[in-house]
Amino acid sequence: MKRKSQNILVCNDDGVRSEGLLALAEALRELGTVYVVAPDRERSAASHALTLSHPLRIEKLAQRTYAVDGTPTDCVNLAVNGILRNKKIDLLASGINKGANLGDDITYSGTVSAAMEGTLLGIPSIAVSLASRNHFRFDTAAAFALRAARKVLKDGLPKDTLLNINLPNIAPEDVQGVRITRQGKRIYGDAIVQKRDPRGRKYFWIGGDNTSREEIPGSDLEAVEQNCISVTPVHLDLTHYASMRKLRRWKW
Ligand code: MN
Repeated sequence: MKRKSQNILVCNDDGVRSEGLLALAEALRELGTVYVVAPDRERSAASHALTLSHPLRIEKLAQRTYAVDGTPTDCVNLAVNGILRNKKIDLLASGINKGANLGDDITYSGTVSAAMEGTLLGIPSIAVSLASRNHFRFDTAAAFALRAARKVLKDGLPKDTLLNINLPNIAPEDVQGVRITRQGKRIYGDAIVQKRDPRGRKYFWIGGDNTSREEIPGSDLEAVEQNCISVTPVHLDLTHYASMRKLRRWKW
């Protein structure tokens, strides 16, 4: 008989109807009671934004499934401090994102930010992303998310630390292993696309398709490129400790 004592919160930034979120929620039901609180539409690259200037609405879509007209961070906040305030949340899982969150992506990512918010609220949190733009292998990602979630529920995570998990978009049997990685660095080429609309006015599109990466051994980008699953422990203390001594010597 299955023990269903754990409460798991699932969020994302692709929206509550995303197949990635459905696959993640379905997989994690193996471990306990899953609550879904997610944006009512896609909010990719929403980063860690919190809505403070207008009201938020919650719509109950199904049992234990809620859509919020806000950001991923709003969702986690409303879930933990509102909808589920009387429950202990044992794990937060964000994703499965349609697209990688590697290197600098972390700073823009709504997927990772939901996990950051969970971490700030004291909940062990993981973010799961699939490195592709189409033909998503959610089966590969969901199976690994289940394994990772089971581990985190059992062992916990260090304070202020989340797991940023990225998977290559391949069949489970083609995965070359799991690597514990560090945050890499993308090189963005042609980052702004400029075109003209049908009325002759210029418009701009941020983020071209030509990205490469810096050669950083052991990076998340390298691991996924080599068909490995990347697991990066991300620490929310952003202090660069090595600079502190030098800065103290400056004449302020
Ligand atoms: Mn997304």
